[in-house]
Amino acid sequence: MTDWVEESLHSSVRMRLKADRVLYDSHTDLQRIVIFENPILGRVMTLDDVVQTTEGDEFIYHEMLTHVPILAHGAVREVLIIGGGDGGMLEEALKHRTVERATMVEIDRGVVDLSREYLPSICGEAFDDPRTDLVIADGVDYVGQCDRKFDVIIVDSTDPIGPAEVLFSDRFYRRCKDCLTPGGILVTQNGVPFLQGSELTGTLRLLRPIFADTACYLASVPTYMGGPMAFGWASDNAALRDTPQEVLEQRLSDASIATRYYTPAVHRGAFALPGYVTELID
Ligand code: SAM
Repeated sequence: MTDWVEESLHSSVRMRLKADRVLYDSHTDLQRIVIFENPILGRVMTLDDVVQTTEGDEFIYHEMLTHVPILAHGAVREVLIIGGGDGGMLEEALKHRTVERATMVEIDRGVVDLSREYLPSICGEAFDDPRTDLVIADGVDYVGQCDRKFDVIIVDSTDPIGPAEVLFSDRFYRRCKDCLTPGGILVTQNGVPFLQGSELTGTLRLLRPIFADTACYLASVPTYMGGPMAFGWASDNAALRDTPQEVLEQRLSDASIATRYYTPAVHRGAFALPGYVTELID
């Protein structure tokens, strides 16, 4: 029997995905996890009935939240990922051979375990990479007591409801700043501004007093419905946001990473914002 899985993220717009086969449907201590197969998207994972990642379009989101800050920075050795339980962000970040250690702080071990079992096409061997430092903890607690420094911090969290709410707070962003090396970059998952504009507005309003340079960039991920998704950007060096295309080209070539969405031209173009997004952040 064919089921349909309905996403309930937005109050007045809903998306349904055909579920040819439900592979897992249960709760951890923190959230409901469903993993199912869709004819076009392949395997899909939802948490508390919100689409988190799909085999079909995960490359867009993971490429844009890793290669944009890492190639803009140019000399990343230490990466911190907050959230990212499916392992896709970790797998993409580890493609950079300059990365000496990728620390991933995920609150729900169940997401990691189930992603390893059911979503190997997304996490690959990332969790077994010797450079991986997996920490099961609340990200706000981790940065609250962390004395290490990171060149790039990627907040790959769920939306600001439930366990991720603390990851959209002034306290959390200020501690992220403390955990960045000089010239470090913070990037954040900030939802689809056409449907969740307050998520982006709220993050940038909090980041602006903490960092010298704040902005956002966009990428369209089909299963994050409602138009382009926004990623928050924060650093103390505005030049990092304007890394010349030829420098990005050289760095991508040196990294010899094959991508299906990211290009240096897409990188720079992602920071060109339409008026309805600019209105949200000005
Ligand atoms: N791509 C997705 C999106 O854009 O919404 C995010 C994917 S990833 C699965 C989100 C992860 O954030 C989940 O595994 C969830 O358990 C984790 N998470 C939520 N709140 C957290 C917190 N306070 N600390 C660490 N991880 C958290």
